[in-house]
Amino acid sequence: MTIRDGGVIAQGFDDELDRLQSLSDTSSDFLLKLEAEQKQRTGLSSLKVGFNRVQGYYIEISKGQSAQAPADYQRRQTLKNAERYITPELKMFEDQVLGAKSRALSREKALYEEILLRLLTPIVALQQTAQALAQLDALANFAARADRLNWVKPERCEQTVIDIQQGRHPVVEAVSRSPFTPNDTRLSDVERMLIITGPNMGGKSTYMRQTALIVLLAHIGCYVPAQSVRIGPIDRIFTRIGSADDLAGGRSTFMVEMTETAVILNNATEHSLVIMDEIGRGTSTFDGLSLAFACAEFLAEQVRAFTLFSTHYFELTDLAQSHASIRNVHLSAQLFQDQLVFLHAVQPGAANQSYGLQVAKLAGVPDNVIHLARQQLARLEQGHVLLMGAALTMSPLTMSLTIPPPVLAEPVDDIKSYLRDINADDLTPKQALIHLYQLLELMN
Ligand code: ADP
Repeated sequence: MTIRDGGVIAQGFDDELDRLQSLSDTSSDFLLKLEAEQKQRTGLSSLKVGFNRVQGYYIEISKGQSAQAPADYQRRQTLKNAERYITPELKMFEDQVLGAKSRALSREKALYEEILLRLLTPIVALQQTAQALAQLDALANFAARADRLNWVKPERCEQTVIDIQQGRHPVVEAVSRSPFTPNDTRLSDVERMLIITGPNMGGKSTYMRQTALIVLLAHIGCYVPAQSVRIGPIDRIFTRIGSADDLAGGRSTFMVEMTETAVILNNATEHSLVIMDEIGRGTSTFDGLSLAFACAEFLAEQVRAFTLFSTHYFELTDLAQSHASIRNVHLSAQLFQDQLVFLHAVQPGAANQSYGLQVAKLAGVPDNVIHLARQQLARLEQGHVLLMGAALTMSPLTMSLTIPPPVLAEPVDDIKSYLRDINADDLTPKQALIHLYQLLELMN
């Protein structure tokens, strides 16, 4: 509200203001009555009374009936299909209402200024009271929520640790119809990064966000949705979540993603909590994988921030083998009678499947598209098994990165089985050469 438009002072504060306002408020009753009277008087069915900001009040009659307008009607405006008139009675009413309105406005403005003047002396005390009330309000709300939602008091400590037992996401828990599955989060000076894999809809984002929310709640003096929480000092929480673009600002989705990533890599410290939700998706598979890999390693080794890093690139799970500070966890799903069931429980180790097609089916992607995708996936997977042979017929960017090369037992068996799949009559010279190199590699 602005004082210029009025309506900022409550009814009952000033009698004169109330009187002026009621004058303009009763205007609609008067207009309805006037319209009924004039309709009856003239017998004209199209007659109506109206108001606009420029012309003020008017009586409107359609073109067809305007010749029968009474003599005391003075023409005010001619429209394409209607004539508008004013009468002495309506003019008087208009002056009264508009006058009352403008007098109410100026009265309100004067009252407002008077209040400001009166406030000058106690303003500091009032502001302090408001601030204290606001704080009390927030704390009372924390207490009520904690009590009602069964939250616990987090233990704050000076060690480098986030140890959440049976943590929950307060909002998902509140809105979801099915029971929430609590999960632990443990990060320490030694293990600083979790690489989180699992299918879409598995609960990766929920898990990461609940950790960030619990850390935030603990730092602002609130109880937290968990069974127990021990937490050291965290200087900032950084998040790279979701896909948004800023096209008007000249930034594509990928540009936004990378800008946010850059801010995190340049500013996070070893006391920060970083949430990275699937970075490197807005570009080609190899680019994205490489970027995600480098960012994860940089965060774990250089920045040493507490990091939750979810990804669809299973290759990143190899990082745990070479870095003591990185641990793999996954959210799993199970196929039950061709239906995907999400377990929402965070488990140790890396996921072994994405279930992308099942999730697409669940989302309503047409059956024939799923069928086609399944065929294509089978071809891609076979391509991987045949290694280089397939690379000739497929662009590297479309090859699935998610299937590790087969672990082959005996070189002779491998070579035999490799050769069985080659039709020598169909090979181009280049393909033959590639097969030759592949065979040499199998020998080693
Ligand atoms: P992802 O990031 O793996 O795609 P989300 O975190 O977005 O998955 O989770 C998808 C949905 O699954 C959520 O909207 C929520 O309804 C449900 N969900 C996630 N985690 C849990 C949980 N721990 N318990 C119960 N439901 C959950």
